[in-house]
Amino acid sequence: MSKRTRVLVVGADAAGMSAAHQALRTARRTGRELAITVLERSTHTSYSACGIPYWMAGDVDSGDDLVARTAERHREAGIDLRLGTEAVAADLAARTVTTASGEVLDYDELVVATGAPAIVPDWALRPDGTPYDTVGPVKTLDDGAAWLDRFDAAGDGAHVVVVGAGYIGVEVAEAALRRGLGVTVLTRGHGLALLEEEMSERVAVALCDAGAEVVLGAEVTGLEVDGDRVTGVHWDGGTRDADLVVLAIGVRPGTAFLDGSGLEAADNGALRPDPHGRVAEHVWAAGDCCEVRRRVDDRWVFRPLGTHATKHGRALGDSLAGGTLSFPGVVDTSITRFAAGGEYLEIARTGLGRAEAEAAGLDPVALVTEGSTASGYMPEADPVALWVMADRGTRRLLGVQVVGGRGAGKRVDAAAAVLWAGGTVDDLAWMDLAYAPPFSTAWDVLQIAARRVAERF
Ligand SMILES: Cc1cc2nc3c(=O)[nH]c(=O)nc-3n(C[C@H](O)[C@H](O)[C@H](O)COP(=O)(O)OP(=O)(O)OC[C@H]3O[C@@H](n4cnc5c(N)ncnc54)[C@H](O)[C@@H]3O)c2cc1C
Repeated sequence: MSKRTRVLVVGADAAGMSAAHQALRTARRTGRELAITVLERSTHTSYSACGIPYWMAGDVDSGDDLVARTAERHREAGIDLRLGTEAVAADLAARTVTTASGEVLDYDELVVATGAPAIVPDWALRPDGTPYDTVGPVKTLDDGAAWLDRFDAAGDGAHVVVVGAGYIGVEVAEAALRRGLGVTVLTRGHGLALLEEEMSERVAVALCDAGAEVVLGAEVTGLEVDGDRVTGVHWDGGTRDADLVVLAIGVRPGTAFLDGSGLEAADNGALRPDPHGRVAEHVWAAGDCCEVRRRVDDRWVFRPLGTHATKHGRALGDSLAGGTLSFPGVVDTSITRFAAGGEYLEIARTGLGRAEAEAAGLDPVALVTEGSTASGYMPEADPVALWVMADRGTRRLLGVQVVGGRGAGKRVDAAAAVLWAGGTVDDLAWMDLAYAPPFSTAWDVLQIAARRVAERF
């Protein structure tokens, strides 16, 4: 009788459950026998955190709509899913994991898929370290439900301060505006963190035109509190009254339960698995608790995105069960949208920013080109701006950013494909892209932008 391999997965969302299901699929093919146990500290599994801002805005009716696969369905597939069970320590030599209730679980293979909890700085907490009722991040389904309750309780005319202008900050600002709340966005940088300044200022203008206040270069220093009630936010240079404060200042790899295990990690705690997901003998990792290899400059970067977590998890699960799939890295592509107060912007990027290119020893040339998402005589035509950067020496495409109306954002995918293949700015300028008047101009604006950069060399 063959021995069943005991696989213990910690974390039951995108990466962990992709890994678990793929391992079962591959095991059926390779003839391996797996007994998969998954520990999840919350009461939720396999949901789209990406949809939470749209639930908050009113586009999605219920948090249940965001659940891709229920706990019952995982269990029907043969997975021993234990909700409300937190891993607190691991002994890699003994191959055991200890849970918060003191249970010690043996494993043959450990999969770390613990994600990255939201950063909540000390200034956002009560002096005793507990959270205020009206201040918090947008990270989990429970957070989404709490924010909907807070929006309702605060009522029309209440003011929300959003700290941070990454894509979650922008999406939450949209949700709050569409709920009829006043919004201030505070960001310590020049605007949307994902973009170069000349592109992010377009997003800041749209936020302001939609009725939000945007304060750039604002390093938040603390909260204004009256008794136990938060009434405002201080930054170096100002104060804003606030009924609600959203923390959208990033996430940190959730690898604390591995502290003291001897496992190697990056300075931020992120794991760096090989392309098959292996981080050490009998230890695997995928998703937001990991860094990913960026192909454009061959560096590790922390890019906590669902699109990476699911691919990462699938490759890991396949390899763990005897397959050969591998995660080939990223080119740093991401996209979001801002739609409120009559404004509509699609925002996307791929590849490097200018500072990253310079840090990699490249000689970047970048230009912003303005154009139209469709032929100018069509009702679909919306303005779009494209930032294209290439390396002077090799003509290699290095990065593209897009800010514009409907249909603008996914243009970034063509640029991502060129980056993926290590192509040049000429490849982007001359490749065969689809054209008809409702979708594009005869020379698509992406190709015009690439051509303009190519002409600089
Ligand atoms: C508001 C929001 C919007 C987003 N929008 C996008 C988007 O548009 N596009 C995109 O690509 N990505 C987006 N993301 C990111 C995406 O949701 C994450 O990258 C993805 O969920 C990561 O999956 P994961 O499985 O690695 O981690 P998680 O989804 O964080 O899952 C990790 C799980 O592990 C559990 N866990 C942690 N520690 C322990 C422990 N010690 N014991 C037991 N269980 C533990 C956690 O409770 C959690 O359920 C968004 C995220 C948020 C919050």
